[in-house]
Amino acid sequence: MTYIDIEQACPFCGQFMVIRVDEGTPEHERQEIAKKKCGCPQATRARGIQEAMDKLEQVCGQTSLDNGFDSAVDDEVMEICKKHVEWVYDLMIGEAQIRTRQGDKIMIRCSAKDDVKIKRECRKQLQL
Ligand SMILES: [Zn+2]
Repeated sequence: MTYIDIEQACPFCGQFMVIRVDEGTPEHERQEIAKKKCGCPQATRARGIQEAMDKLEQVCGQTSLDNGFDSAVDDEVMEICKKHVEWVYDLMIGEAQIRTRQGDKIMIRCSAKDDVKIKRECRKQLQL
């Protein structure tokens, strides 16, 4: 691998920065690196939302099985949760609570530190 320093524009704001990449790194990956590095509001938002989406995946997605849940949340409900994560991140809403058909309660809220918190509670019930 040969590393080179290149000037790369942030795809959001167009600001140039110097990044070190392997010579063969394709353009879209160079842009991803610039997005991660840039301090403009759009790049910061994209990072914040990505971080929140990763949490959502841990708590509700397939990864939740590794975290002790019996099942992942349905795809349709996941889509709704993603929308709410964005709204909470953008402070359009302060908090969202979604109750699934299976009785899970999913809470999405903004913490005092301005990051998105996601909680899922499963109600185990037995009816004979
Ligand atoms: Zn930028």
